[in-house]
Amino acid sequence: MFLTEYFRTVYKGVRSLLTGMKTTGYYFTHARKEIKTEEYPDNRATLTMFDRFKGEVVMPHDENNEHRCTGCQACEIACPNGTIKIITKQEPQPDGKKKKAIDTFVYHLELCTMCNLCVVACPSDAIKMAQTFEHSVYDKKQLKKVLNKPGSKIMEGVE
Ligand code: SF4
Ligand code: SF4
Repeated sequence: MFLTEYFRTVYKGVRSLLTGMKTTGYYFTHARKEIKTEEYPDNRATLTMFDRFKGEVVMPHDENNEHRCTGCQACEIACPNGTIKIITKQEPQPDGKKKKAIDTFVYHLELCTMCNLCVVACPSDAIKMAQTFEHSVYDKKQLKKVLNKPGSKIMEGVE
């Protein structure tokens, strides 16, 4: 009785092992070309992420240190978890009037879920998702970023 139970347990164990090995063997011999192991970080210099990968929100600036952000706050409102804080200011115009403008675009990377809703909500195409992904830091305060660069201003013609 005891021996029968023993051999049954051994049989079940071996069968389970072979079932697993059969699956492994199948993928070993039928691996699709797109399934590959990235040798990260050794391949850091040549690594390209897939098109839809989203790593963080960034605000592109041109060679004149100009961006497209009007400070409208649509991205801040669209963000579901308070990742963005837009601080605005009143900028004097040539005609003597004042106009709302971005002062500081605060982005909390540590809160961001990369949902892309802020990018979709922006009427000026001022922000986009970058493919950077090496965000590890020892102090999460370092993940609080200001996206508009020091001394930058809005591009002419963007309202
Ligand atoms: S990607 Fe999503 S979570 Fe991140 S800042 Fe934009 S709206 Fe917020
Ligand atoms: S990034 Fe776009 S949506 Fe956000 S404040 Fe600037 S212009 Fe408005």
